[in-house]
Amino acid sequence: MILGNHYIDGRWQAAASGRERTVTNPCDGAAIARVAEGGREDAASAVTAARRCFDRGDWPRTPALERGRLLDRLAGLVERDREELARLETLDTGKTLTESRWDMDDIAGIFRYYAGLADKEGGEVLASPHPGTTSRVVREPVGVCGQISPWNYPLLQASWKMAPALAAGCTIVMKPSEITPLTTLKITALAEEAGFPPGVVNTVLGPGPEVGAELAQNPDVDLISFTGGIATGKGIMRAAADSVKRVALELGGKNPNIVFDDADFDLAVDYALNGVFFHAGQICSAGARLLVQDGVHDRFVATLRDRMKRIVLGSGLDEGTQMGPLISAAHRDKVEHYVALAREEGARLVLGGARPDNPHLQAGFFYRPTLFTACESTMRIVQEEVFGPVVTVERFQSEAEVIALANGTIYGLAAGFWTRDPDRMERMAGALRFGTVWINDFNVYFVQAPWGGFKQSGIGRELGRQGLEEYTEVKHIYHNYETRAVNWFGV
Ligand code: NAD
Repeated sequence: MILGNHYIDGRWQAAASGRERTVTNPCDGAAIARVAEGGREDAASAVTAARRCFDRGDWPRTPALERGRLLDRLAGLVERDREELARLETLDTGKTLTESRWDMDDIAGIFRYYAGLADKEGGEVLASPHPGTTSRVVREPVGVCGQISPWNYPLLQASWKMAPALAAGCTIVMKPSEITPLTTLKITALAEEAGFPPGVVNTVLGPGPEVGAELAQNPDVDLISFTGGIATGKGIMRAAADSVKRVALELGGKNPNIVFDDADFDLAVDYALNGVFFHAGQICSAGARLLVQDGVHDRFVATLRDRMKRIVLGSGLDEGTQMGPLISAAHRDKVEHYVALAREEGARLVLGGARPDNPHLQAGFFYRPTLFTACESTMRIVQEEVFGPVVTVERFQSEAEVIALANGTIYGLAAGFWTRDPDRMERMAGALRFGTVWINDFNVYFVQAPWGGFKQSGIGRELGRQGLEEYTEVKHIYHNYETRAVNWFGV
């Protein structure tokens, strides 16, 4: 059994209350770890440590080159322990080992990218309008950062926050999802091994409404970065308002995947599958909303159904498994609720809509790939994020119609479309109101490019240069080296 504690000010420690939580494997419900179950007091003491370290420690003034070196060392440790990290992630989330290994490679790349970027920003000299003066703009670390991450990509999402914050010279308090803390604990241990000074990296475990809420409210936190559900994100904004914290939000999505009649049919079907069923659809950018043009609609649905039937469910650790379980019984209940709702709303169930019969899968939270057609944009199954292996299909006739449909939700995270028409590519890319638009691809992201949402999918951007800027404040420094009396009040 794995054991895990908070890491505060360079020391591993149990919850102040002595409480613990059992972490389970969603594949079979087996206990895999006992970890500290923190409360507000643990989060507050981590914030105090991070504050002290930022205000009185050397970290924010450590040369950026040296901060980059530490991040580079951390990237090397992630690579060294790739297999252990990937297995932990699969045990904790249920995703396939192949997907977890991709995640770990991405994560090492993210630390390397920000290691390289740490010392590239030297500020800017402005053309001052006043003679005998200089004017320059510098970027400084924003301060103490609370970083709250979700259960679907536990370490990937944590590293999107951790790497740029440390590169910028901030101190951090990480809070992983209470359901999936294991890889965040492991990266914390690797940060300790890499040599980050005590108080720079802190990790507190425990439930969101206690530990997360304290990070959002505590006035000693300068920035709160959150990835998770939209309702939680709104609560965090409200909690952060009292101290006018910087708020960075990566929330949900309802991401349209649009197939025009002239698309490469086989590729569009293939990517429709990848777009939805990786990690059993528990991806913020899942292409769970398919919009298919009239001319290819029926053939597309039939081909998609035939390929969906062949998706192999099982333990993420087993060779050959293509899709693992949902994260928890409560989450499967939510998915089942949406499937029932879709049927009531008049959507046509073509495949799935049930738990698998396979006796080996009964102890886990598995759900069959599910396909609905005859969907309308007014249905809740089309408007709301299900976060499971459920795809809806809407039929459309024209480009103008599909633009209005695709933009017609509260979300704006990502969208993709399939066409061979170069003029349409440009028109569509301009018209879609999403933070990322994929042309003839789906669900691709990389550290060099910014990631984030329009509308209610979030505020701010992670990854890329913008991801580093998020962790900085802009300061204007004005120097008058020929100061003369103004004599405005002179007598
Ligand atoms: P969630 O909102 O339930 O929880 C996310 C985190 O917030 C967890 O660590 C949780 O403990 C914490 N939390 C819960 N209540 C809190 C509170 N009152 N105050 C502070 N923190 C609190 O989300 P989830 O179910 O873990 O994750 C799934 C959601 O995350 C989906 O909506 C998905 O779209 C979104 N997501 C978005 C992105 C993105 O890049 N936009 C990436 C991954 C996941």
